[in-house]
Amino acid sequence: MADLLSGALKPRYQGQKADLAKALPPRWDLYRNDRALAGVVQTSRGCPFDCNFCDVIQYLGRVQRHKPPERVLHEVQALYDLGYRQINLSDDNFTVYRKRTEVLLEALADWNGKDGREPVGFLTQMSIDVARHPDLLAACSRAGLRTAFMGIETSNIEALKESRKRQNLRIDLVEQCEKIVSAGVSVQAGLMVGFDSDDLSCFERQRDFVMSLPVINFRVAVLVAPVATPLYEQMEAAGRIVVEPSLAPSTSAIAHTNIEPAQMTREQLTEGAMWLRAELLAPENVIPRFEHYARTLGPRLPHLVPAQTGGPSVKAHPFLELFSQMARNRATRRVIECVRELSEENPLLRADLMQALGMYLNSYMRQPSEARQPMVGVAQ
Ligand code: SF4
Repeated sequence: MADLLSGALKPRYQGQKADLAKALPPRWDLYRNDRALAGVVQTSRGCPFDCNFCDVIQYLGRVQRHKPPERVLHEVQALYDLGYRQINLSDDNFTVYRKRTEVLLEALADWNGKDGREPVGFLTQMSIDVARHPDLLAACSRAGLRTAFMGIETSNIEALKESRKRQNLRIDLVEQCEKIVSAGVSVQAGLMVGFDSDDLSCFERQRDFVMSLPVINFRVAVLVAPVATPLYEQMEAAGRIVVEPSLAPSTSAIAHTNIEPAQMTREQLTEGAMWLRAELLAPENVIPRFEHYARTLGPRLPHLVPAQTGGPSVKAHPFLELFSQMARNRATRRVIECVRELSEENPLLRADLMQALGMYLNSYMRQPSEARQPMVGVAQ
């Protein structure tokens, strides 16, 4: 900035990765906090794993850097003071360095719902290897960490090997997921199709796999190769990168890939991914997943249950009434009824199920009806 202000900018500056211990807290006072549902705190950057499609490790590094717990608490308190009761710990892999995570979680547990504060629900991203550590999961629950996004990706072992997703190998993914949910942490599953070892049967296999998981929220994506990743280099060397300016390569893309799949066309991959998503959102599949989740979810500490759980009775919940009126068909009304019944049986489920119901209605009611047609030409 001094060079800029003195008109002496150099052609190039080479920085180091930022030291999170010295990071200044964000100026949330400049932000439209009244328009946001959740606050954000980043407690670490980077991830030591090596998934070949991941660009996070290319720009944030594989040596994880950490923010000291007292600075995290300072930021969390600032968000609380602004009125946030949902906070996203926006790390790449929150639990991978267990010792530091345990210390941070204990600090959050001592803060959350204590000294007259209302409970705050935390969500974050972590890898499935956390299931091997019951103490760490218990610490998540004590701190009020209610939801974790996880790259479960696929049940196809060859695909996990080819993408170097080692942490998902040699374990039973369903069993590990059950352990996490029964510790009180809800899993949002990241799912992927379009690996080289995926043929046209992958969509139905993935549908069956997800139906065996105690998961109420998920994200389906096709495999893409972001620039700078090992996968991009590999695909470029093989002449399989498709350059279309309108398709920005991004891991958040649901349906369009920038690579030529090995065992299907790009159109079949898009069609199959949309079919998979529509299948998982079909009421006859949503209801058993909600029920599976309700049977599996472990206990949560009463002082960390959001206040609205003790609010108006579930029967008269204004959102449920509104959703029921909006529902266009009997099947959707059945899903709403399922949420009502499960929440009445166990009020601690209400916040999770209401959130999942909102996502379901948002996605299901807007998707084109042709997405739910049988997969003629894809899964044959
Ligand atoms: S675990 Fe997640 S953040 Fe880490 S390398 Fe794999 S995809 Fe990237």
